[in-house]
Amino acid sequence: MNSTHIVIIGSGLGGLASGVLLASEGFRVTILEKNKAPGGCLRSDTQNGFRFNFGAEIITAPFLFDQLFEKAGRNRKDYFEFQPFDPVFQAIFPGGRRFAFFNDPAMTSQMNGLFSPADQASFLTYCEENDKVFNEIFFDTYASPLSAAPLFPWGKRFPGWNNAELANRLEGEEIRRLFNCWPLLAGGNPKESSNLDRVIPAIFNRWGAWIPVGGMKTLVDALVSLFLESGGEIFYETEVQELQIFNRRVSGVRLSDGSIQHADIVLSNADVLTTSLNLIDSDQTRYADTERAKKLEPGTSVFVYHLGLNCILEEKLSLAGNNFIFPEKYEGFLTELFEYKQLSADPFFLLRVPSKNDPYASPPGCQSLSVVAPVPNLSGKIEWAQASFRFRNRILDLIQPYFLTDLRTHMIFETFMDPHQLEEKNGSYLGAAFSIRPGNYHRPISRFPHRSGDIRNLYYVGAGTHPGPFVPGVLLGVNLAVKAIKEDFSSE
Ligand SMILES: Cc1cc2nc3c(=O)[nH]c(=O)nc-3n(C[C@H](O)[C@H](O)[C@H](O)COP(=O)(O)OP(=O)(O)OC[C@H]3O[C@@H](n4cnc5c(N)ncnc54)[C@H](O)[C@@H]3O)c2cc1C
Repeated sequence: MNSTHIVIIGSGLGGLASGVLLASEGFRVTILEKNKAPGGCLRSDTQNGFRFNFGAEIITAPFLFDQLFEKAGRNRKDYFEFQPFDPVFQAIFPGGRRFAFFNDPAMTSQMNGLFSPADQASFLTYCEENDKVFNEIFFDTYASPLSAAPLFPWGKRFPGWNNAELANRLEGEEIRRLFNCWPLLAGGNPKESSNLDRVIPAIFNRWGAWIPVGGMKTLVDALVSLFLESGGEIFYETEVQELQIFNRRVSGVRLSDGSIQHADIVLSNADVLTTSLNLIDSDQTRYADTERAKKLEPGTSVFVYHLGLNCILEEKLSLAGNNFIFPEKYEGFLTELFEYKQLSADPFFLLRVPSKNDPYASPPGCQSLSVVAPVPNLSGKIEWAQASFRFRNRILDLIQPYFLTDLRTHMIFETFMDPHQLEEKNGSYLGAAFSIRPGNYHRPISRFPHRSGDIRNLYYVGAGTHPGPFVPGVLLGVNLAVKAIKEDFSSE
């Protein structure tokens, strides 16, 4: 075993996956997790027999997990299986008009009555062109390291940065709105974000949408097992309060109980903004990383609402497993969210019906629903102590019309997570659900590199680092973070 000791702060996807690779390389690796359970945004819970995901629901590019297990000398299929999730989503527009997006573009084109024959052709062209853009972005940009030196080192025009133009070529206004909305799901404003966050449909078309059989907990448990089998150790309810830094070199971490854990390398999977603004220097004056973080903005937060019912609901309008609900005044909603940082009475939200894809998500004869709504982060003036319950009521009013069954009468369980809980539970800066707000047209890359700019032996991994959030983004970043550590420590 390599005697170099690496402490990883946090057991989110980035922490666990990096831990697996680094322990497999022979490093001594310790993960410190502040919560009782691993997973971060992949966390799920079962209460009263209802299984809920607090974050990720759908996985794409499952081959990235296969590669991770292979690098640790294992076969992913010996740990868990994926099952397909199709359609990936259904968009529902005011008046009940619907659009279902399938993994196969031809199927999407065939199944949607909203299309005229000309629109169908333009949709297929859009998918092909988006795929080309995605190809350049994924392999040239997403999977390549980002330099730590200048803040925004991008001189050349981004490949495909303007592919909003592609979506704008779609004929119908609602379809254009739909295929431009992706930055909203990553904490950014669709009206200004760059198109690095718009290529998601191409990822689904290429690699499909999947869920782990047995729920997200199965996947997280598999990662923890793989990490332990690779020789790593993990401690729960162990919160890092501060990094120990001397002469611009990290030497360990101080825990919330005051004890010091020494380390040769610290890899932070805690939100990169929280790490650089609160953990490395609470005065926020001494380091370039802190300066960098101060210039970046946290993205929006989310309100996550889970609801368990004692019956199977009768639907007025056929729902899919994952439904994007567009409000009548979508533009107004964006203004309220991004300019006024207010809660909208008529928000865009995701309505998830887990039982559509997973019969074991609820007890027999029961059903659950989940809502994920983008809301302002804690830089807004919302008093969540009062607002959460009012917003929960509004959500119930908004989803009731999709069912013939009265939701409030049949509700036997409910729980929600607002930005304060996200901040407290996950350590997300100002409760931002996807860390740094996606870059705009002029600064398409806004996320952190993996190697600290000016603190030796400090590295970052996770949603706020290059290339960004979501399961594939974080796993690509893991490869880059581990590569940087190996480059720096191969000769020591
Ligand atoms: C509501 C929601 C829905 C989503 N849906 C999807 C989806 O369907 N598909 C998809 O691909 N992605 C989805 N995502 C995004 C995806 O889940 C995340 O991008 C990804 O899981 C983030 O992983 P991470 O490595 O950044 O770690 P995180 O999940 O942020 O975990 C960080 C870990 O660090 C720990 N930590 C923080 N501070 C400290 C400290 N001081 N000391 C010790 N431990 C600490 C935290 O407790 C946590 O366990 C969703 C996210 C959200 C919020």
